[in-house]
Amino acid sequence: MDIFGKLSVLTGAAKYDVACTSSGVDRAGAKGSLGNAVAGGICHSFSADGRCISLLKILMTNQCVYDCKYCANRISNDVPRATLDPEELAALTIAFYRRNYIEGLFLSSGVLKDPDYTMERMIRSLAILRAEHRFNGYVHAKAIPGASEALITRLGMLADRISVNIELPTERSLKLLAPDKDRESVIRPMGFIKERMAQARNELALFRNAPRFAPAGHSTQMIIGASPDSDYQIIRLAESLYDKFRLKRVFYSAYVPMGSHELLPVGQPPPLLREHRLYQSDWLLRFYGFKASEILDAEGQNLSLAVDPKCNWAINHLGSFPVEVNRADYEELLRVPGIGMISAKRIVAARRSANLTFEDLKKLGVVLKRAVYFITCSGKSMYGLALNEKSIYSNLVSGSRREALKASEAGAPYQLSYLDNDAAAIGGGAQFPELLALDDKASERAPSRFIETAHDIASDATQVSAQTQAPAQEDIQMSLTGQM
Ligand code: SF4
Repeated sequence: MDIFGKLSVLTGAAKYDVACTSSGVDRAGAKGSLGNAVAGGICHSFSADGRCISLLKILMTNQCVYDCKYCANRISNDVPRATLDPEELAALTIAFYRRNYIEGLFLSSGVLKDPDYTMERMIRSLAILRAEHRFNGYVHAKAIPGASEALITRLGMLADRISVNIELPTERSLKLLAPDKDRESVIRPMGFIKERMAQARNELALFRNAPRFAPAGHSTQMIIGASPDSDYQIIRLAESLYDKFRLKRVFYSAYVPMGSHELLPVGQPPPLLREHRLYQSDWLLRFYGFKASEILDAEGQNLSLAVDPKCNWAINHLGSFPVEVNRADYEELLRVPGIGMISAKRIVAARRSANLTFEDLKKLGVVLKRAVYFITCSGKSMYGLALNEKSIYSNLVSGSRREALKASEAGAPYQLSYLDNDAAAIGGGAQFPELLALDDKASERAPSRFIETAHDIASDATQVSAQTQAPAQEDIQMSLTGQM
């Protein structure tokens, strides 16, 4: 097979891996080196299926001696196979970089022979890139579970970020669907990477030129929907991974059916909206001070598909609201749906000069169509109406979301919008029982004056976004990152 054939097979096989953002490394170009790395992230573009494409995302080989049931590269699957030599891989990366197609490399691999042998080849590729081609750009490499600590150390010296995929949320699912792996082979390297990173930081504090180890941190990926594990189990696990191993990111990847197997779910794949809700919950854990036990508990095991996790929490804790925006501290503001980190900071800064009104909040980027049910300005709510859980819930599930749902149920295409968080995440053929239960007349249960005005606010907010740069950017950012 020629190099183009290999490229086609190996980049195609890598598309199921979602853990490919870059952040945290700022490294200027150096004399005699090629490329640089930018802390703001180098993944600026996304492919049609929403995956990042500005790194060369490739497998070193799609041959694998393991038989993970959910994976296209499993040994029992009959697909074209290809393997790149370390020299070929390094030359390809440099050729792509020189043509300005990519800004870095995301390297993963199937398991050739055994984990150590595979890692040695990956390390050789990166060593050629760094030492022979003097490549200074961003590299994210996957460590192979079961590889030795010496090899993980070497990989971390060459890559900016390394990750070990946890794959499935529970050990039971891992045993069933990935019988060649075990929890220990994933968890142990995570602990080792965390310790090695801390050691590298200490050394760097003492010696300016001490070698760096995975300066952009480490991450992991979980496949969602291949096993019956609940959202509660998933976010509990994510929380403990962040706490114990100081992970930079946990990525959630909705299961893409790869043929049939008795242990895998049959029928429609899990809705992408479920993946989206998990990212929103993850955001709440990392930046909004939420605990997993606040988002879900043993009784409510799965996230609502109808409203985002923050709205869901707020509706279930109406006793904590309304929040007075002119007095509440930053942490309280963060808990209000429609107020993100940026707008909370703006509120805290702006109210030093004057009491804020609802009009001011709009200008500060607050999404009033969500926040309005949960805040007061100088003691007054926007409409002076006492609302209950049911009416708030009905109003938050907007018409556009229901339209997206119906189109999805009917298998019809739906025009996605940057400003429609949930529509953007809805996949074809998804099941949304909660949304279906809300008929088009659900909003009539809330006072009509309130509904009309709430719709006006939503359309006002869109117009303001179009006229002023800052709120528009924040809206788009929220849509892309799951910020709420
Ligand atoms: S080890 Fe990785 S590449 Fe091999 S079958 Fe399992 S998930 Fe696929």
